[in-house]
Amino acid sequence: MTQPSLDLVIAALERIREKSDHAPRASRTALARLQAAPVAASLLAAPELREGGREGCTSPTERGLQAPNKADLLAAVRERVRVCTKCAHLACSRTQTVFGVGNPDADLMFIGEAPGADEDQQGEPFVGRAGQLLTRILKAMNFAREDVYIANILKCRPDMPAGSFGNRPPTPTEMQTCRPYLVEQIDIIQPSVLVALGAVAVEGLLGTRATMRELRGRWHTYNSIPLMITYHPAYLLRNQAPSEKRKVWEDMLQVLERLERPISERQRNYFL
Ligand code: SF4
Repeated sequence: MTQPSLDLVIAALERIREKSDHAPRASRTALARLQAAPVAASLLAAPELREGGREGCTSPTERGLQAPNKADLLAAVRERVRVCTKCAHLACSRTQTVFGVGNPDADLMFIGEAPGADEDQQGEPFVGRAGQLLTRILKAMNFAREDVYIANILKCRPDMPAGSFGNRPPTPTEMQTCRPYLVEQIDIIQPSVLVALGAVAVEGLLGTRATMRELRGRWHTYNSIPLMITYHPAYLLRNQAPSEKRKVWEDMLQVLERLERPISERQRNYFL
């Protein structure tokens, strides 16, 4: 099947899935696999690579041809996001989409709300001041950014009125429109633990509206994956109270315990 044909099939399945209570029986991961298939398909189409092809020839499996890996699957989704115009106003105002960054095989995945101005410019989530704080938190947990996966609910920066500065939170409609891409990312990565950063990320992921006081510091689940909810690093930049920083760190200690990572005494007593 050619790439344009595949795109049509995938778009049609996505439309049915989004509009119907009885979605077609194709997971988003399966759709991503379908999209990642042309390379493998073209290789398998070569006569010498077909199973049972010529006598004495090795099979594709024997030649090391394998199903697309997580990086391939994510790349296929990233390409659809790159050209996505589902939110016409955001597609017009963005510099670029901000898909996600990190290890496709990560055990730990962080979810934020939406790109800000810095992320829009650089095409990577969490690179501004809040992102630098997240990187410091990861370091204190003995992780590098490359060890985990970081993504947002929204892949485009929420637009701002002309002449105004700063960032705005995404609307519920924008989050609902973009959420399927995040669902695909999680389906592909299958992390052992998810961390949602802030109430907006929680609303986008779970559809739950509640205060952080009610949500944070305890385990929730998303599709059977343990989900820890904690404050967004931007909140810690606004509120420098040691008690608030300690709360985030205690949430991260719970994450480390859940991942069965060793925790030193120094880490236990650490304050962000
Ligand atoms: S926010 Fe998401 S759904 Fe909307 S245009 Fe950007 S990538 Fe597409």
